[in-house]
Amino acid sequence: MEERERRLGRNEALFREVNERIERVSGALRTGTDTMTILCECGNPDCVEHIEVSLSEYERVRAESTHFFVRPGHAKLDVEEVIEHHDEYDVVRKNGVAGEIARELDPRDD
Ligand SMILES: [Zn+2]
Repeated sequence: MEERERRLGRNEALFREVNERIERVSGALRTGTDTMTILCECGNPDCVEHIEVSLSEYERVRAESTHFFVRPGHAKLDVEEVIEHHDEYDVVRKNGVAGEIARELDPRDD
């Protein structure tokens, strides 16, 4: 059980890393829109779904180490809870061990 939480926590942190890079690249390219396409952060290695999110929304959620973007229905309710519903995505907050790992691996938090 705890091992599953750890694995999920690490996977989600990994997707967050990727999305942080996407944000930097989109910022550099500036296509004229204020949205970016990120990967679903549900932690399932087989999930390849994308989420369209505004840059300000991305920044707002990313400011919290334990908050992640997932496609509606992709939340793992045993390790996280859905705190916001949107058309394109849900925002989840990780609890317990997964939350600790999310904080530890936050690239914005030195
Ligand atoms: Zn997903």
